[in-house]
Amino acid sequence: MATMPEQRPIGVFGGTFDPIHHGHLRLAQEALENLDLAQVRWIPAGRPPHRAEPRATPQQRLQMVRLAVQDNPAFAVDGAEVASADPSYTVLTLERLRRECGPAQPLVLLTGADAFAGLPTWHRWQDILALAHVAVVYRPGFSIDPAALPGELAREFQARRCSPRELQAAPAGGIATFPMTPLAIAATQIRQLLAAGRSPRYLLPEAVIAYIQAQQLYLSTPSN
Ligand code: ATP
Repeated sequence: MATMPEQRPIGVFGGTFDPIHHGHLRLAQEALENLDLAQVRWIPAGRPPHRAEPRATPQQRLQMVRLAVQDNPAFAVDGAEVASADPSYTVLTLERLRRECGPAQPLVLLTGADAFAGLPTWHRWQDILALAHVAVVYRPGFSIDPAALPGELAREFQARRCSPRELQAAPAGGIATFPMTPLAIAATQIRQLLAAGRSPRYLLPEAVIAYIQAQQLYLSTPSN
């Protein structure tokens, strides 16, 4: 990585957020502190190319993210993927952010260990590593094992591995890991609870639960 004047990185956190929950919120908060980020930019996917169509509409998922993060001044919501009719490719979002933020600003893509292991299936994944750093969250006590990653990703991981501190010294290209409080909350579980008429209380913010009820979301059980 080239040496440049240090700048606090901007975290980029994409996902379907169907719905957003406290696992996502803790990941962003712990990334903010562990990686000394200036901000976390939440980017709900509009039409995610990798997975089944989300249950809530893009606008509903964007609104739930807005409600969940509105009282945190270090969190910002970016609705560009939701507003676009095109498939939500992370590489295109990072190209846009790079244009917006300039060539020197460190950008850090935040991923769960599961999402990181699937990186080689993402559109133009090698370009992602040229546009941003990647930070991978792991469960304390379980560091990320390169032997468990696909070969081409394991090689990138070994070559680009750096400390959270080093993410400030370059705009892109590093891969750092950081631990977070384990919270076994999944959006799938929340949708299943709601479909079964059970309460998801304390798994996600009250304001988001109120919105889900007002919009009558997740009342039935489809396959996803
Ligand atoms: P689903 O259950 O619908 O698959 P999900 O929460 O896993 O939902 P996304 O909303 O797309 O899916 O997740 C966005 C990101 O948040 C991913 O990188 C994922 O790894 C991470 N993530 C989701 N839940 C947790 C959690 N409980 N702890 C840490 N990271 C999480």
